[in-house]
Order: sequence, then C-alpha cells, then structure tokens
Amino acid sequence: MKLTADYHTHTIYSDGKNTFLENFRRAKELGLAEIGCTEHGFSHVFCGLKRKELEQYIAELRAAERETGMRALLGLESNIRGESGLCDLTERDFAQFELFVVGIHVFVYYEKLFDSRLGLGSYARYGLHIKPSKSLVRQTTNAFVHAVQKNPIDIISHLNYGCFADPVEVAKCCRDYGTYLEISSKKEHLTDEELARVADTGVRFVINSDAHAIDRIGDVARAEEQVRRVGIPLERIDNIDGRMPSFRLAAWRKVHL
Ligand SMILES: [Zn+2]
Ligand SMILES: [Zn+2]
Repeated sequence: MKLTADYHTHTIYSDGKNTFLENFRRAKELGLAEIGCTEHGFSHVFCGLKRKELEQYIAELRAAERETGMRALLGLESNIRGESGLCDLTERDFAQFELFVVGIHVFVYYEKLFDSRLGLGSYARYGLHIKPSKSLVRQTTNAFVHAVQKNPIDIISHLNYGCFADPVEVAKCCRDYGTYLEISSKKEHLTDEELARVADTGVRFVINSDAHAIDRIGDVARAEEQVRRVGIPLERIDNIDGRMPSFRLAAWRKVHL
C-alpha cells in the first residue's frame, strides 16, 4: 500500500509543531501528490484556527506551496458543535476552503449547553470505560448524521475517538452522501470488530496521519495494520496506490462558485 496523499495534518496554526514549509518539504520527500492542511476549527477553545489569522494562514500556505512545488489543500478539521449538525466551517467559508474534515473534539464552544455532553462528558466516560447512556449514543449519532446531511463534508476524522456514535449508522449516512470515513493512524478510534461492520456498509475510506509534526507526515502505519487485520479490500481506500478521492466540497464549489 502506497499513500497517494495525506488529508489530515496540523501546523503551528493549531497544535502542530511545524510550519507549512516544513510539512510540505517532508510531503514532497515522501512523493505525496498533495497534502491537506487541516488545523482545528474556529470553535476549538484552546487551539482552533483564529478567524483573524485566516488571511495570514492562507498567504503562508500559498507561499509554502509555491516554494516547495507541493500541491496543498486549504482545509480545516472543523468541529461539530451540536446535535443539530452545526459545524464551525459554514457556507460563508466554502469559497475559500478546499477540504472539509469534521470531527468531535473535547474543548469546543458547543451550540447549546446540552450539546456540551458531546465534549468533556463523553471524553471522560470514554477514558474511564464507562458505558454511555442510550440517549448519549443517540445524540452523538444525530450530530454526525445531521452534519453529513447538511454540509458538503469530505472526511469524518477519527470517528468515535472520545465519543459514542453508532458507527454503522454514521457510516451508512456517509456512504449515501459521499463522505469518506477516515481510518486514523494517530488514534485508536474504532475496534477491529466495529471497523469490519462499518466496512460492510460499503462506505469508502481514506487513511490519514493526523500528523502534528513532520516526522509523522504520511505515516499511516497504524491504519495500514488495522486495514490488513480487518481485511478491508484496498480498493475501498481512495487515497492509496495512485487513487485520488472525489470530494464533496470541491463538487459544491464547482456548482456554486
Ligand atoms: Zn481531531
Ligand atoms: Zn487532527
């Protein structure tokens, strides 16, 4: 398995350690066709990309792209902000952004007080191995499903890391809407048994590094191992062996811009 492109990476603009220039040089060395730059979304309390930095962020990304010759996608790892499916990348951003990755994270400004159960409440239960209530699973599943239904989301990052959606229901929705499920090489997020059931839905996958430093750009070893263990056919992964994914946000932009 050879990675074509890595669609989940961070820089110093969120909680990564390196700059665009350093990340792109590494991606170039590895022979990747493109790299997705996906800082944490605007509503992340501690390390979200700040809207007032956006202009500088884009300028630096494009400058690094020119200097290295590495093709880069301006993206975001947007946060789901509630059961409604509200994300912190919204339609007003779609003209600028090229890659729409979405996940649930702990420290986020949630839409409503009740939605904040998706953050710290879930994460604490997850860490302490406390079984979630049925209503928490319903609420989390709704959050993912509504987000995928209402937004042209390209990739769901590390599904069920620190939270408790029904992974099969989320996968079916992703399959129907053309959103990829990420198999993360950073975080253990689905068990082998869950991943097998998810794969049975017919959803398509990408594998990503979620690199926060250059030594992990393009590193998908953990995901690759899980793919082999579970026996997922490699044709179901769209960013390996020369294949490039077909993304929803790019299609949206073609129609609307
Ligand atoms: Zn994440
Ligand atoms: Zn990330």
